Amino acid sequence: MKLWRKPLDADDWEPPKGKIYIIEERCKGCGFCEEFCPRKVLEESDKYNSRGYHPPEVVNPDDCVHCELCELICPEFAIFVLDAKEMESKKPKKKRGKGGGSKKTSQKKKSSKKQTSKKTKKGGRK
Ligand code: SF4
Ligand code: SF4
Repeated sequence: MKLWRKPLDADDWEPPKGKIYIIEERCKGCGFCEEFCPRKVLEESDKYNSRGYHPPEVVNPDDCVHCELCELICPEFAIFVLDAKEMESKKPKKKRGKGGGSKKTSQKKKSSKKQTSKKTKKGGRK
């Protein structure tokens, strides 16, 4: 998006970033969010929800400036925006395996199993 006039301090600050969430089943396809988004982040999608409407889809996620206009304007409360940086910091850093434990704890379990098996073997000889 081109600015008709660049503010003098535009390079000194970073615009906020938003992460958009759409509750597709609530959407009634009015198109307000698509029409009034100042950065043209949203567009009507080709898919249908169960009520037969086309919910919006995010086409330019990096252009969202977290202005929350789409959230305010939606008559069905079908769209909301959160701070992208905040959401990034809340992401879990490591994926856990099927057992649910970390690598260290599973290694500890293995070593303790070995030790108990050695003990039982020793006991069996006596
Ligand atoms: S928060 Fe603002 S910029 Fe982002 S999608 Fe909604 S209306 Fe567009
Ligand atoms: S403003 Fe709300 S109801 Fe209207 S198209 Fe956007 S998400 Fe759907």
